[in-house]
Amino acid sequence: MERHEALEIVKKQLTEHRYQHTIGVMETAVELAKRYGADEKKAELAAIFHDYAKFRPKEEMKQIILEQNMPNDLLSYNTELWHAPVGAYLVQTEVGIQDEDILKAIRYHTSGRADMTLLEKIVYVADYIEPGRIFQGVEEVRALAQQDLDQALLQALKNTVQFLLKKNQPIYPDTIHTYNALIMKKK
Ligand code: GDP
Ligand code: FE
Ligand code: FE
Ligand code: FE
Repeated sequence: MERHEALEIVKKQLTEHRYQHTIGVMETAVELAKRYGADEKKAELAAIFHDYAKFRPKEEMKQIILEQNMPNDLLSYNTELWHAPVGAYLVQTEVGIQDEDILKAIRYHTSGRADMTLLEKIVYVADYIEPGRIFQGVEEVRALAQQDLDQALLQALKNTVQFLLKKNQPIYPDTIHTYNALIMKKK
């Protein structure tokens, strides 16, 4: 699928602000794919569709999680986590993208997981550092992303976990697993 066709499809699913974010993730993901030798076309499509389900009604997302036998524990955690696996499902069924590498990059873009693929890491980090992101700590992750993708990912995770702790929010197990996998690999 061509970039312009994909963008046209996703634009209808998003607010203008979220669409601009998507463009930023797309450009960043392609840059990272070039730098780290990933498939640029897959990085582009995964980035374009990563937030496809962001604005689906919670009830619809909940039903999909139950009917498609997605991990049930998702339902006890922050609803923000739902759009990633539900997005992968809808991008497959509504848009017709069948490539598992792309679908997994969408599925794990919020929580991450242990043993992420290169493409999954690229979309996760691109989502975190795209030019529209302005939160505390983003500059450090941007700099790391030029040098070492795993280090950038680890720093983004540490920031996210710290942010959740500060807000007294639960941390989804896959987020912890992502962190553990990276910190144990480092040593
Ligand atoms: P966005 O869709 O572009 O806004 O970015 P994400 O898909 O990465 O969504 C991140 C949101 O999920 C943030 O607001 C996090 O605070 C929230 N979130 C809630 N619980 C968790 C968790 O356990 N792990 C992670 N990584 N994010 C979580
Ligand atoms: Fe997202
Ligand atoms: Fe993210
Ligand atoms: Fe996003």
